[in-house]
Parts: sequence; C-alpha cells; structure tokens
Amino acid sequence: MDFQVAPEPLDGKVPEGPVETKWQRYQAELRLVSPANKRKYTVIVVGTGLAGGSAAATLGELGYNVLNFCIQDSPRRAHSVAAQGGINAAKNYPNDGDSVWRLFYDTIKGGDFRAREANVYRLAELSVNIIDQCVAQGVPFAREYGGLLANRSFGGAQVSRTFYARGQTGQQLLLGAYGSLMRQVDAGTVKEFPRHEMLDLVVVDGHAKGIICRNLVTGEIERFAGDAVLVATGGYSTAYFLSTNAVNSNATAIWRCHKRGAYFANPCFTQIHPTCIPVQGPGQSKLTLMSESLRNDGRVWVPKNQGDPRPPSQIPEDERDYFLERLYPAFGNLVPRDIASRAAKRMCDTGHGVGTTGLAVYLDFADAIRRLGREVVEQRYGNLFEMYEEITAEDPYEAPMRIYPAPHYTMGGLWVDYNLMSNVPGLHVLGEANFSDHGANRLGASALMQGLADGYFVIPYTLGAYLAGEKPGEVTTDHPAFAEAEGAVRVTVAKLLQVKGKKTVREFHWELGRLMWDHVGMSRTKEGLAATREKIRALREEFWRNVDVLGEPAELNQNLEMAGRVADYLELGELMCIDAWHRDESCGGHFREDYRTAEGEAQRSDEKFAYVAAWEHTGQLGSPRLHKEPLDFPNVHLAQRNYK
Ligand SMILES: Cc1cc2nc3c(=O)[nH]c(=O)nc-3n(C[C@H](O)[C@H](O)[C@H](O)COP(=O)(O)OP(=O)(O)OC[C@H]3O[C@@H](n4cnc5c(N)ncnc54)[C@H](O)[C@@H]3O)c2cc1C
Repeated sequence: MDFQVAPEPLDGKVPEGPVETKWQRYQAELRLVSPANKRKYTVIVVGTGLAGGSAAATLGELGYNVLNFCIQDSPRRAHSVAAQGGINAAKNYPNDGDSVWRLFYDTIKGGDFRAREANVYRLAELSVNIIDQCVAQGVPFAREYGGLLANRSFGGAQVSRTFYARGQTGQQLLLGAYGSLMRQVDAGTVKEFPRHEMLDLVVVDGHAKGIICRNLVTGEIERFAGDAVLVATGGYSTAYFLSTNAVNSNATAIWRCHKRGAYFANPCFTQIHPTCIPVQGPGQSKLTLMSESLRNDGRVWVPKNQGDPRPPSQIPEDERDYFLERLYPAFGNLVPRDIASRAAKRMCDTGHGVGTTGLAVYLDFADAIRRLGREVVEQRYGNLFEMYEEITAEDPYEAPMRIYPAPHYTMGGLWVDYNLMSNVPGLHVLGEANFSDHGANRLGASALMQGLADGYFVIPYTLGAYLAGEKPGEVTTDHPAFAEAEGAVRVTVAKLLQVKGKKTVREFHWELGRLMWDHVGMSRTKEGLAATREKIRALREEFWRNVDVLGEPAELNQNLEMAGRVADYLELGELMCIDAWHRDESCGGHFREDYRTAEGEAQRSDEKFAYVAAWEHTGQLGSPRLHKEPLDFPNVHLAQRNYK
C-alpha cells in the first residue's frame, strides 16, 4: 500500500521524572490564566457526553466563556447515557489488594502494551478523585450494607474496583455532569448549542480557532470562533454499521479535524465486545450490549458436541464446555474482551455455536440464581435482564442468554500529547474521540473513567497552560479562514444533494459495514485488508455517483446528516485498512491471522511495532503519512499477556 513514513519520531510531550509523581509536579509547573482573565477566553467544547459535558462544566466553573455543542436535542442524550456496567477506580474499598499501581498495570497489560505509560498512570491516579466528585454531585452509586460504595469485578482484573449504579451507570454519571453543566448555564458561563453538528474545523495560522456547524433544525450553516477547540465527540464503531453504539454516533468531527491537519492514531484498534445480543436479521439497525458486569455471575458455555440441537436445559453438565473457565482458569469468565470475543468466535467457527444462526454462545445464570437467589440477581442486573427479554422474548431467569461479539468501542482516535492536545495547537481531544489511554484493547469500565478524568481533572490544567500563551479573542468569524471553511461545508452539502442516484445512504452504510466486519473486524489477514481497501475505494466512488439523498438543505434533514457521516466513514474505513495492513503483528483487538502463537493467542512484535501509529492526511485520500510515537515501558515488564 501507498504511504510515506515521517523520519522524525512524534513527541508525546511527557514530562520528565518518576511516573508516580510526574503529574503532580507537572501541574505545579504549568502556566495559569488568572481568575480575572479567564472570562476573556472563549472555549469551544464539541460534545456533551461524559468527556465533553464534564469539561464544559468544569471550564465554566473556572470562569471561562464556554460554547458547548451536541447533535442531540439535549446535552443529556449524549451516547454516554447508554453505558451500563460501571466505572473503575482504585479506591480499594473491598480491601482485596487494589492500588493505583495495580490499576495502572492492569490497564497497560489489558491494552497489550500499546498505550503511553505516563497517561495511563495519571488515569489510575485520578480515578479515585472521579468517584469523590461524582458522589458529591449525588450520583447514586450502589452501596454495601454498611454504607460504603459497592464494587464489582470487570474483565482483566483480579480485584473488584468497578463502581456502578445498577446497569445504568452512564446515565447516572451523565445526569451528575449535566447538573453541573446546567448550573454553569444558569451562571452564564456556558452556552448550549443542541442540534448543531460540527462539520469543519477552522485553523488560523496553524492554530484551531473555530468551528463550522450545521444547525440541524433549520439547516443554516453557522460560524463560531474561540481561543481553543475541544472535541469530545465519541467513537467510530458505527463504521461497522451494526454496533452497540447509538445509530447517530459518528466520526465526522474527528475526521474533518484530521483533514485539517490533526493526526489520526491507531485507527485499526477497535474493540469487539463479547457479550451482545446476536444479529437477528438484515433489517436491524443496531445491536444491544449485555454489560460485561454480567460475567461476574454469568457462566459462558457451548455444547461439547458440534451442532447439538438440544435446548440448553436438556444438555447435561458433563456435555457442556465452559470454555473461558477451561482455557483461562485464573481469570475465567472475566478475561478481557478481546480474549473472550476471540474464544467465542473460535467456538462458533468450529461448529459449537448455538441458536438459529450458530453464531452465539450461552451466558448462563442458573448457578448464580441457585447460589444467590433470584432476588439478588435481579437487584444486580434487573434492567439488563428486562432489556434482554424485551428484545428476544426469552426469559433469561429461565434459559441462558445467547450472546455473540459485536463492535463496541474504538481505542483509536485523534492523536493527542500528554496535554490532550493534538498536533494542531489549540485543538484538544477528549474521551473516546482521542486515542489515548487504552492501547490496543480497552478494559471494561475504563472508558467512563477516562472520559471523566479528561474532562474534570486533566483539561482544566493543560488547557489553561495553552491559553496562557494566547491573546484572547484575537480571531473573529470575519477572518477569511472562516469563509473558506464555511464554503467547503456548503459545497459538500450541495454535492450530496445533487447526486440523486439510485441507492440509499443506508444501503451504502450497510455494505461498508459488512466489508469492515468481515475483514477489519475480529480477525484480519494481509490479503483481506488489501482487497477490502480496494472495495472501499470502489464503494466510495459509487457513493458519489449513485447515492440518493432526500430532502432539502435548509430544513431538518436526517437523511442528509447521515449521508455526510457515511461519506466520512467511506474515507476513514480505508485508513483503518491501511493501518491494520501495515501493523504486521497481533495486539489486543487487532488480531492478524498471520501473527498468532501456537495456542492461537495474539503475537506481538515489540521490536517493530511498539509505537503509536499517527497518520497525517496528505491532501490525497489513501496516501497518508505515518508518524511514529515510540512507546517506552520503563516501569512495566513487556510480556506475552497471560490470563491463565
Ligand atoms: C452500550 C454501551 C455500554 C457501555 N458501557 C460502559 C460501561 O459500563 N463502562 C465504561 O467505562 N464504558 C462503557 N461504554 C463506553 C462508554 O460509554 C463510551 O466510551 C463513553 O461514554 C464515550 O463518552 P464520550 O463523552 O467520549 O462520547 P459520547 O458520550 O459518545 O458523546 C459524544 C458527544 O459528541 C456529540 N457529537 C458527536 N458528533 C458531533 C458533531 N459532529 N458535532 C457536534 N456534536 C457532536 C454528541 O452529540 C455527544 O454529545 C459503553 C458503551 C456502549 C456503546
């Protein structure tokens, strides 16, 4: 494939000193903006999920003038609301041996040694502050009998460190952030712009100074200027069409920032979650997650006999293969997601799958119900069981759930340095939209932790240091760069509406999704990636010739919104193929069939690939330039991951 490699290594701007004290010392050294000057700075925050919402609220509280955007009708409908199982923190309340160090180590190892040590240590350190902050906001975390906050276990850890609010942790955390946000709206520091989609970044003299949005209700194209731009627009799993993400989750904001110069890091690091309700048919537009928390008490199994037609209740114990417990006795059902997903796929590929399609395995609660009683299971997971029954019309208290892996989370995203700033000065990226802390595989309950660490605790410091070097309000929307960016957006909108072809936007998205799932999904081959890249290019060419986008530009037009997002996925999909093709190793969620150990596990190549792959857009699609940020591990020992 055609790409260039930049000769100079990319600098993550990690401060010097021991990892344990790096952040504290750095904070003390960072430049500050005085309280009286903060209101002179305008900060654009795109996104109102846990990352964007927490950042906007905190920056407003500090006194900055914040403009906050989202595509939903209310900030509190951001996709974070869907998070179910919990949020990690190294509080060690259960006294089971947890510590900041252990959370740091588990996260680095869980990510298959492809994350930046210093960021991950800071994340583990800040995890404890997040819980205090959220409790102060009134987030109703589950509690033990004695009043202490309760914990449960998630994959990749041998301690219980996951705080939760039943199966609705994201919703409760988001309501906490939203409460703080509304307080700032009332105080006049934050102005909300719901139903506004960022369609371009405005760069002036190399610095991010504004955005162009489409008002999704009126169709108007609007300009907004600021002294810095924070993008917290979530992940890009909907590139696969079917995923556990909300249908309107998208990569448009980060992709358009990429086309304005921001590097896109590790785009092929995507997470396939092992426990989702299997695909039921071609008419489906999304998949539903069954939270990883269920693996605390649910046991995963398949029939030992291939193609066993009996219902699960008639398969005796000795004819069942509890394959995760058999293969990984030390972690059992709580192995990390990439490991569990691949094991389930192997079982189905070898004929042990269940259900009508054979693409499912059982998640069984019979033992837990016997041991704990139905009431306890209901208290822990009640809403998830209800959700399962509503969708499948089967009662999981009576029969095991059927589950299969599905696209869920993207570890890749815009490249950021230790300050969460991209290579475009002033453009900061938070939450799932950045590539930062999870390496090649994210551990369960660590995304909420990262989004809130970024928004509540990191950006308030590092953004101040950037702004302290900037004169406030220097650029207004009259600058020619705004006219240029607005013009480019108008041209794209008009082009989409002018094609008037024969295929719907959904059909194109579906076709792209199938290609991505089959060849850039749970397992990848060099040849498959090269061929898929060509197919995506052909599909993109057909899209611009044959797509049918309905409606008018100056009105509420969801078909047009979706068309823009699919057009971007047809470009990002190609970069995902290139990245996966170039990385001649397996690590975390990136599993290359040609790089596996004798036992079928991921085979890393640390000598060649212990780096972040940050791709620069060269102006020509499909010919990116690769910047490598070398990854050093002075504090942890690089080893083959072992969960046995
Ligand atoms: C079903 C499900 C369950 C999960 N459960 C857990 C869990 O239990 N624990 C855990 O740690 N993680 C969980 N995750 C992952 C976690 O929820 C997400 O990674 C996290 O919430 C992302 O937060 P965010 O703020 O980065 O983005 P989001 O919450 O996705 O917010 C994105 C924001 O950006 C806005 N936006 C997007 N594009 C544009 C645009 N172009 N212009 C303007 N605004 C835009 C949206 O309106 C929204 O406000 C789960 C994920 C899913 C899908």
